Amino acid sequence: MKISRRFMLLAGACAATAGLPFRPGRAWAITTLTMGDFQIDSLSDGHLELPVGPLLERVPEAERAELLKLADLPADGVMRSPLNVTLLRTPDRTILFDVGSGPDFVPTAGRLAEALAAMNVAPEDVTDVVFTHAHPDHLWGLLDEFDEPLFVNAALHMGADEFAYWTDPATVDSISEAWQSFAVGASRRLDAVANKINHFADGAEVLPGVRAVMTPGHTPGHMSFAVGTPDQGIFVTGDFVTSPMGFLQPDVGTATDSDPELAAATRKANLARLADEGWTILGYHLPEGGTGRVERQGETFRFVASD
Ligand SMILES: [Zn+2]
Repeated sequence: MKISRRFMLLAGACAATAGLPFRPGRAWAITTLTMGDFQIDSLSDGHLELPVGPLLERVPEAERAELLKLADLPADGVMRSPLNVTLLRTPDRTILFDVGSGPDFVPTAGRLAEALAAMNVAPEDVTDVVFTHAHPDHLWGLLDEFDEPLFVNAALHMGADEFAYWTDPATVDSISEAWQSFAVGASRRLDAVANKINHFADGAEVLPGVRAVMTPGHTPGHMSFAVGTPDQGIFVTGDFVTSPMGFLQPDVGTATDSDPELAAATRKANLARLADEGWTILGYHLPEGGTGRVERQGETFRFVASD
């Protein structure tokens, strides 16, 4: 397996997506992995700006400063959380894992279409979209600024439990008030495409060479995906771990974890397995394009980004 990285520069004047308002230029890295006739690229949908404070709620106060330093995060204030969408191209398919935030979430995100254009992939070329979960930064890019499906030719794949949770009319009332907009936004989008979604369960071979691994806790039906094998493949984590801090201190989740205890247990078990099996991972919110490895460090772990 070969891993390479190159930098893309996009001038604002060249914003390639017709019909969109002018957007400033940006630079981002595309990490490419090739294995046989599979090619995987890590594309950027932009980034989120998140307060660091809520991430530290489960960390004893005396350990916080050291942890922030180890994880290379700002001591207080705002963390830039990358948004890495996985593009997998095989001889007969063009597959996206999640679709970014679309035009309606936050102004720093929703730029997947530009990244695809830079790879000479048009939205209509995408044959399959596989979802890790239905949070806005993963799902809302499904519809364009006119509320029309963007990936018109794609079959959509979502874990059955995840789909059931977000399309349940009771979810908007049971979810914490801070995240009610997530529930409303997810059900609206999933309703719009419900007849195009294939549901799958833990362990399913969703597409040839793509196996579902249920990793619940961030959301009730969260899924990760093992593509290929540990030495010739990649593990698409989704959000069961969302920052380098989660490796160093697996009890540290995100404010949006639906079940923090379950999320922490999922993190520990899966980081251990990924370290022991030697997988290359692609993390949606991890730095450096999200590709790297999990290494054990004492009782916990660390994220080692690919060169
Ligand atoms: Zn996310």
